[in-house]
Amino acid sequence: MNFHRDFLANLTDEQRQKVNALPTPFYLIDERAIVQNMQLIDQVCQQSGAKALLALKCFATWGVFGAMKPYLHGTTSSSLKEVRLGKECFGGETHAYSVAYSRDEIDEVLQYSDKIIFNSFNQLAQFADKAIAKNIPVGLRLNPQTSNSSFIIADPARPFSRLGEHDVDAIMAVADKITGVMIHNNCENTDFDAFCQSLDDIEERFGKLFHQLDWISFGGGIHFIDPNYPVKAFADRLKQFANEYDVQVYLEPGEVSVHHTAVLVTSVLDTLHNGKPLAVVDASIEAHMLDLLIYRQSAPLSFVNETAYELAGGDFDGETADDVAVRIYGKSCLAGDIFGDYLLDKPLNIGDKVAFANAAPYTMVKKNWFNGVDMPAIVIIRENGEIVVQKQFGYEDYKNSLS
Ligand SMILES: *Cc1c(COP(=O)(O)O)cnc(C)c1O
Repeated sequence: MNFHRDFLANLTDEQRQKVNALPTPFYLIDERAIVQNMQLIDQVCQQSGAKALLALKCFATWGVFGAMKPYLHGTTSSSLKEVRLGKECFGGETHAYSVAYSRDEIDEVLQYSDKIIFNSFNQLAQFADKAIAKNIPVGLRLNPQTSNSSFIIADPARPFSRLGEHDVDAIMAVADKITGVMIHNNCENTDFDAFCQSLDDIEERFGKLFHQLDWISFGGGIHFIDPNYPVKAFADRLKQFANEYDVQVYLEPGEVSVHHTAVLVTSVLDTLHNGKPLAVVDASIEAHMLDLLIYRQSAPLSFVNETAYELAGGDFDGETADDVAVRIYGKSCLAGDIFGDYLLDKPLNIGDKVAFANAAPYTMVKKNWFNGVDMPAIVIIRENGEIVVQKQFGYEDYKNSLS
């Protein structure tokens, strides 16, 4: 855990006061941080010739799309609603993909699509002709049966996976229907050598097909934002691939697009003691940072009461006699609604502000009304420094989410 942008360090006193006066909880997104990520992606695209599409399943907070559009080529999607949002709110190239489209939605999907990628032979057989009739290029998702994912739940190559087709001969038999393929088999992969190794394997297996195609997407999950990632070598490898097969390469960055560009700001509502100091904040890991619960990870800490604290995240190296190990809980009634264990230089008190880092990817897209916990507002620091309360949620939103 090394990469923490200190949100408050870049704010003027006036901006800081404004943020402090906002009622918690809220997601605070920094467009200036997003632009830094965008510039990295742009650099990879410039050096490699690849095109980059925002993966909307990771981040779809359209209020900041304006800051992203100048750098990305468009969006990719996992459903009708996402492809529509991409077309309406982002523009550029809009790619459609879904694990399975229904007959009822396919015509509408095609209205918004610049390319469509089918997940299986059956989907291709059912719908490719409709797309081709509208001059929309068709792709197929390949499953190379190898992956770089340390989580089985996120492993597209897990045993009996439904994500894409793997049988080379059967794929060659439908090659006349497709102009491209999508392969997404990385998950937060920081290891460039592992990426290359699996690309070599993929080329060995599917190279014959690749020579017949116009475009290939490598999906997301390549964590080239890691400070140790060899970005130039990565771009060179993509360029080499594109030259070898004479294809347009696409990347579909989700996490990398918005990595460490937001914090979730909360307030301490209560403190208790049970074997160690405990604090309860006015948000919930289950409702507002659900991915961390699914992957059993702690939320990185960004700041407490305007001060950046060193993250402990369950690792108490360097503890001194004065430091306090605090467990911070969410306010839902789930016993395991735990943001994490943190080492702080003083105890938390009721009313203290606590902000959790990396609150943009896979957070707002997954938020839910469990326990009726207050939904964090969405607050944006614009590129020009203006602080905008973009969206607040209330009782009616909760009520309208059910019937
Ligand atoms: C999830 C996903 C992405 C984005 O992945 P990140 O790890 O957020 O970069 C891109 N493409 C496809 C097909 C995906 O399923």
